[in-house]
Parts: sequence; C-alpha cells; structure tokens
Amino acid sequence: MTNELEELYQDVLLDHSRRPRNFGELPDAAVRVHGDNPACGDEIHLGVKFDSSGGLEEIKFTGHGCAISQASASLMTMKLKGKTRDDAVELMQSFRDLVTTDANNTSKNLGDLRAMRGVRKFPQRVKCAMLPWRALEQALQQSEGETTVSTEEPGFD
Ligand code: ZN
Repeated sequence: MTNELEELYQDVLLDHSRRPRNFGELPDAAVRVHGDNPACGDEIHLGVKFDSSGGLEEIKFTGHGCAISQASASLMTMKLKGKTRDDAVELMQSFRDLVTTDANNTSKNLGDLRAMRGVRKFPQRVKCAMLPWRALEQALQQSEGETTVSTEEPGFD
C-alpha cells in the first residue's frame, strides 16, 4: 500500500468498519432514513430517537458497503448520541470541512472522527464518508417518518 492509502485505512477506521458501534435496529425510532450511495454501492439505514427537547437521545444504524461508509456511520453515531440538534449540525459542518478541505483548524471537536481525514485525498470516497451524515441531515429536518436520500441528488456535496 502507498503511504496515502495506509493513512486512509488507519487503525481506527478499520476497527470501526469491522466492529461497528451502535449497529442494529432501533425499534422505537421516531425517524428512519435510508441513505444510498450508488456510486460505491453503500447503504445506511439510520434510526433516530429524539428526547423531549429535540436532542439525539438514541441513534443506531444498519447497512452495508465499503469500510469508509460503515466506519463513518459508526464513528458518527458514537459522537452524536446525547447531542443537541445544534451540536449535531455543527459536527456535520466540521466533518464536511474535514473530508473536503485542507483546513486543520476545524476538527478540534471531532475526536475520533479525525481518523477519516485521509478521505480528502480520494474525492470519490468523500461520498462514502458523507453518506451517514447526509442521512443525519435529513433526519434532523423531520420529526417522524421514513425517508430515502441519495448522494446522487442535486445539491449534495
Ligand atoms: Zn463506499
């Protein structure tokens, strides 16, 4: 492997893709979003339960696809559980900056999510990394029900 690929598939990422956290159905989810990345064949089914103030009380996912997409979902759910909506939106913006720009000053609050930063060198993998976050973005826009989103929709970046 080249050094760049080694950086992309570093230990944290591999660990989360092999043993994803918060993986499974959320039976009492208020919102379910099916995220689809046809460019790579990744799928994420995100289930979210909100607390009385609209925060993310519980968040779980199932799905299949490449290591990047599944590790990103695992890391995302770990980070988001118990967060307010505002925190979740802020994290989503920080993560998008992490994988799409060279800025290094945006990642302070991201913790283990910084393991995904190597993705920025592989533009075709950014959709994989962003897929669970695209599903989250949709989940935050609705308070109940089921939706499908795709990385191929206009406006996705
Ligand atoms: Zn993928």
